[in-house]
Amino acid sequence: MAEFDLIEVLRSRCVQARADVTLGIGDDAAVLAVPAGCELVVCTDTLVPGVHFPLRTDAADIGWKALAVNLSDLAAMGATPAWATLALTLPDADREFVERFAGGFAELAAQHELALVGGDTTSGPLTVSVTAFGFVPTGAALRRDGAHIGDAVVVTGTIGDGAAGLCCAGEEEEGSAILASAPEAARATLRAHLDRPQPRIAIGESLRGRASACIDVSDGLVADLGHVARASGVGIEVESARIPASSAFVAAVAPDRRLALQLTGGDDYELAFTVAEDEAEALFGALRDTGVPVTRIGRVIRGSGVRVLDPDGSAVDVPRGGWEHFR
Ligand code: ADP
Ligand code: MG
Repeated sequence: MAEFDLIEVLRSRCVQARADVTLGIGDDAAVLAVPAGCELVVCTDTLVPGVHFPLRTDAADIGWKALAVNLSDLAAMGATPAWATLALTLPDADREFVERFAGGFAELAAQHELALVGGDTTSGPLTVSVTAFGFVPTGAALRRDGAHIGDAVVVTGTIGDGAAGLCCAGEEEEGSAILASAPEAARATLRAHLDRPQPRIAIGESLRGRASACIDVSDGLVADLGHVARASGVGIEVESARIPASSAFVAAVAPDRRLALQLTGGDDYELAFTVAEDEAEALFGALRDTGVPVTRIGRVIRGSGVRVLDPDGSAVDVPRGGWEHFR
């Protein structure tokens, strides 16, 4: 199959009618109209097999996840997604792979009315790089550097499912051991969380003008809260017992292994944010409509770094710093 046929498969499945796309796939570059009164928010994330998804992942899930991880970054900025470009490197012109990939990508794109407006298709080892574009009202983007001493620290959804899902994939010995006696239904739920994360777009939009700082939890809770602490020049204290866990996570992971996965495992794609204490309850009320649970897990303190406290108030030893490339 030729390069242009592959591009046509992507175009035909991932095109969305949007009035702000003056010129989409097919010319040398796309021409796009940013609405008046808005700023453009742009991010890029690349997926590499065996690093960002298990080697035997379904192409449809790769397509979904390639977009989802980028939409999660837009959500963390409070942005509304609009467009994306896709740089796809493929070992061979495998039509079935591209059709499945496009199907997964298009499924998530349609949920957010996002248009694929361009990209590049090359041959080489499988690599998927997406750039996503979204809007925020001018000045309203959520950032990492606004947390204040005394703010509440809050997370969306549950923490640890992505890391447990990776253990389910069975491509790492230690992970397989952790989930050795996990029930089949719990495994499937956790694996689905790894393969098809749900970017928290509606929550990010609701946090505009309310959250003092925000980040998405992609590399591990402690590592990502550490970025907020550093950028804001504060410390963060987390109560381990408050970190929300899903019922699948509790069913699958032995009690003595849970906290390490929740603190340092990656791939959650939840939001972690800070909010002034006296605005927290009103914000929780406003978020109820999204249907996504939010949980207060700690507070912003004087100092630096992230401290995790166990139920009797003593500091927990955090195993390692979360996911980092080139270590
Ligand atoms: P050029 O040679 O001008 O770089 P290409 O042949 O690479 O153009 O691409 C032709 C058109 O198809 C362009 O509009 C480009 O944005 C689009 N395109 C190429 N690859 C992809 C892809 N993987 N996803 C979406 N659009 C793509
Ligand atoms: Mg090109």
